[in-house]
Amino acid sequence: MADTEWRCVEKLKSMSYTCGHCGESLASQIGYRGMNEATRSNEGLIYICHYCHKPTYFDLIDGNIIPGNPYGEKIDDIHDKPVNDLYEEVRLCMSCGAYTASVMCSRKLLMNIAVSKEAKEGLSFAEYVEYLSEKGYVPPDGKEYLTHVKDMGNEANHKIAIAKKEDAEDLIDFLGMVLQFNYKYPAKLKKRKEKK
Ligand SMILES: [Zn+2]
Repeated sequence: MADTEWRCVEKLKSMSYTCGHCGESLASQIGYRGMNEATRSNEGLIYICHYCHKPTYFDLIDGNIIPGNPYGEKIDDIHDKPVNDLYEEVRLCMSCGAYTASVMCSRKLLMNIAVSKEAKEGLSFAEYVEYLSEKGYVPPDGKEYLTHVKDMGNEANHKIAIAKKEDAEDLIDFLGMVLQFNYKYPAKLKKRKEKK
């Protein structure tokens, strides 16, 4: 992109995308064009979101979109800040293809959830997994999934294996379910009761 010259903001061909900053789906026509001076072809486009006014860069050479979109559902009412922040970090890792980082961070998140549910600090990852299962924070049929999570967590940390996208997604799906059952729905019910 060394020869790319960025032009003034202008009206571009309409682009539909989900904004990685605010999460809104939109079609934007306003942005910047990066043209290769030698070939006179567009090499990159920057569109401006009309909800949050932040830029998203579309690399027309390698197809990357920056920022990308976090994976998984955003979950409201996670009142435990470290748990909430780690979950968001895990989702964000996926938007830039950092799957191994996502798996390792998911493992840390699972440990944080256990500690926030009064598990002792300093236990092994496997012990935290057992704790969540024994105390009923994971539905009975989720135990097999927990074992899958446990194996994946161990692999990412001890063998320096590169995690696959599907593994990272499986973990986030699982954590999302645990967070919905243990944070989102209890908070929702509490709010409803307070209104009465
Ligand atoms: Zn936006």
